[in-house]
Amino acid sequence: MAVFALIDGNSFYASCEMAFNPSVRERPVVVLSNNDGCIVAANAKAKALDQQLIGAQGRSLGSGGYYAATPQSMMYQPYFKVANLLQQHNTAVFSSNYELYADMSQRMHRIIGQFSPHQEIYSIDESFLELSTLPIEDFTHYARELKRRVWKWIGIPVAVGIAPTKTLAKLANHLAKQHAKMEGVLDWTSLSESTRILLLKQVKVGKVWGIGKKLSQKLEAQNIRTAYDLHQASPKSIRRTFSVQVERIVAELNGQACLALNETHADKQNIVSSRSFGRLVSDLDSLKQAVATYTATAAEKLRQQQCVCGRVSVMITTPRFQTQELQYRNVYQIPLITPSDNSALLSKVAIQALQQIWRPEFRYQKAAVILSTIRPKGVVQEDLFTPQANASIKSDALIQVMDQLNHRMGKNTLRLANCGLQRQANWKMKRDHMSPRCTTRWNELLSVRAVH
Ligand SMILES: [Mg+2]
Repeated sequence: MAVFALIDGNSFYASCEMAFNPSVRERPVVVLSNNDGCIVAANAKAKALDQQLIGAQGRSLGSGGYYAATPQSMMYQPYFKVANLLQQHNTAVFSSNYELYADMSQRMHRIIGQFSPHQEIYSIDESFLELSTLPIEDFTHYARELKRRVWKWIGIPVAVGIAPTKTLAKLANHLAKQHAKMEGVLDWTSLSESTRILLLKQVKVGKVWGIGKKLSQKLEAQNIRTAYDLHQASPKSIRRTFSVQVERIVAELNGQACLALNETHADKQNIVSSRSFGRLVSDLDSLKQAVATYTATAAEKLRQQQCVCGRVSVMITTPRFQTQELQYRNVYQIPLITPSDNSALLSKVAIQALQQIWRPEFRYQKAAVILSTIRPKGVVQEDLFTPQANASIKSDALIQVMDQLNHRMGKNTLRLANCGLQRQANWKMKRDHMSPRCTTRWNELLSVRAVH
């Protein structure tokens, strides 16, 4: 029988902020999306505050301000609407510090990987491990040790769910976070049948992994309201009414593993680098800089995976929700004759793609660079007879030096000139509340003062 563990960072972005800033640990903490748009992450205290405010709205309808006619959560609200309210409740507000989160994520996954040779990195803050081949007597004990090590080494709290299927491991993880007395660890395999039923009944069907909002509405219309109801449903009729995928979820809830560990997941088939601009941008030069910068970031990821790509795509778009703006959105793809991982070459190609779709009459909000047709570097046939072959070897050495320098001295110490030289270019994201990128930039290292 397979044994899966799902390890998930608690309120990951907010936890990264708290790890380096203990002074905010006792306060509500929220993290904002791109350009300080809306709240996308909150620590436990901010979530509790949110619940309290939702409760208060019922009693103070019509009092104006933030309070809406129907109780509304602060989460995913535009920041400017709730900024005052957050301040009144002494909330610490941070802009998204993606560099910090990405680095902390890598560290976290690396520590988790020490606990099994079989790991699937599922998202920025979630890893699956497969444990059945290891000589583990007590999974709860093992999970507590893992949790303790992640906390001790990088200061990130995690929850662990252990079960014979990935869907149940997800569910156990969810429950481990809900029930304080489980202390962040739930081993489904150790539970009695009656406890399992009790717990399955507590979970709404929409919380089951793979059941989205639309699907959960359809299921509820059929009186399938909890994970327990879904687990009891007849697989055949589920398949007829819904799909094979939902039938598989039913099987997984019953302990039959249908989904295997996907260990190759870490190396992606596409690498996307995209950001919204700080304000709307229409001039070609600024867009070229943005596209070159995103390409450099994507190419660095590509090299970390020791891969090359065979296609470069660029997408630009105007703001979607500001109806007074003229709308435009376009994508252009350029296939490469010889697959490459070279930033200089890839950004040249990306800029060519941009020039195909850029129109001067629009104001753009976002650009994206997508590297695709990715494959391992070694297996690509180098064409020794083309005149570029030698140039490409020389240029590869240059890029290697650039990567090494940037790794040692901090990101962007050395970069290509087409990424632009100004520190605050107009296309850069608005991040008024950003914490230091203290794990990846030398000049943003934390300083510590001893107090006697
Ligand atoms: Mg999480």
